[in-house]
Amino acid sequence: MSKARRIVHKYGGTSVGSPERLHAVAQRVKATSESDAELVVVVSAMSGETNRLLDLAASVSPEPARRELDVLLATGEQASTALLTMALADVGVDAVSLQGHQVRIATDSSFGRARIKSIDVSRVEKALAEGHVAVIAGFQGVDEEHNITTLGRGGSDTSAVALAAALSAEACEIYTDVPGVFTADPRICPDAVKLDRISFDEMIELAGQGTKILQIRSVECAKRYGVNVCVRSSFDDGEGTWVVPEEESMEEVLVSGVAFDRDQAKITLQGVPDRPGLAASVLGPLAGSGIVIDMIVQNVAEDGRTDLTFTVPDAEKARAEEMVRKVADEVGARGVVAAGGLAKVSVVGLGMRNHAGVAARAFELLASESVNIQMISTSEIKISVVVELGDLERAVNVLHRGFIGSESEVGSGTG
Ligand code: ASP
Ligand code: MG
Repeated sequence: MSKARRIVHKYGGTSVGSPERLHAVAQRVKATSESDAELVVVVSAMSGETNRLLDLAASVSPEPARRELDVLLATGEQASTALLTMALADVGVDAVSLQGHQVRIATDSSFGRARIKSIDVSRVEKALAEGHVAVIAGFQGVDEEHNITTLGRGGSDTSAVALAAALSAEACEIYTDVPGVFTADPRICPDAVKLDRISFDEMIELAGQGTKILQIRSVECAKRYGVNVCVRSSFDDGEGTWVVPEEESMEEVLVSGVAFDRDQAKITLQGVPDRPGLAASVLGPLAGSGIVIDMIVQNVAEDGRTDLTFTVPDAEKARAEEMVRKVADEVGARGVVAAGGLAKVSVVGLGMRNHAGVAARAFELLASESVNIQMISTSEIKISVVVELGDLERAVNVLHRGFIGSESEVGSGTG
């Protein structure tokens, strides 16, 4: 007898990080499975496990083959599915564990960052029809050649949302160790409050600008397929934050959140000839070797020469600098300067679309705290600035105070 509704729960690493936590999750799954909803559970590896496996691989081989790395990393999620299913059996819940290849979460063959191409839900449907809870390994898939693949760090969020879409689930609840999405990270911004609702586009920008709560691809997937996502804590019964399609009232809020990313470096190529194809010849090789370039600024040309500055993750600074120095020689640039220890701070909000002057206000606020802005980039619903790492906390707090306010003024978030 099939049930009226269908829900996907996803439990992250800390939520399944110990035997106690697995028992707590089992209780929550039991309660939901006894409701009128069919339940699919997606799990991450236990907290720290993926890093442990990566370290282990590094200690065995300096450059492990990506295919074998995926075989190794996938074991973290495999263990979680088995352990949770055992814990469920002990509390009387009929569950069955399924790995990515058993469901058939079909991906391309980009080991370590595979993309889901399709999901065959028949095996899951069968389990649900038989009254089981399906406990599915997040993060993993299988390519056409039956190789095990993984979806990139944080990828089990994407597994959960993609499964929710494929199964036409009513909602995808992402259980984590924080109560929801906040207006800023409460660890550095005491005024931050939890949002009740946030739009897909704002969440995509926040995730892209350093808010680590959801893998960005999972939100893009949710937006594309209209999956309602709820981010909530597995440690309490709070309501969490709903990530939902845009509603009209959401535009009334100028800034929904302040995001930051601490690991930025910038590289400046000085005095490069100002001619077509130059940016491509500098940035092309970097992109080709997997270095993610974020902000790019080109100065106004003088005497036919210009400066080109761009940011990369701090961890990639040395590699990027080396590659740029090579190109600099080839194109006859005057020099290369690289600086690490930077941070990016962004304000995000749908309301920016219809309001002028948000950027000017942001710059005033930063100036009032003597924060020096090194680079600026904007989109329709976002303004980002690069600042010294030492200025990060002051920048986040002054922007939060200026745009969002202190707790008492916020009311019910974006809703
Ligand atoms: N276990 C993987 C990671 O640590 C995937 C995930 O947790 O979403 O990145
Ligand atoms: Mg995660």
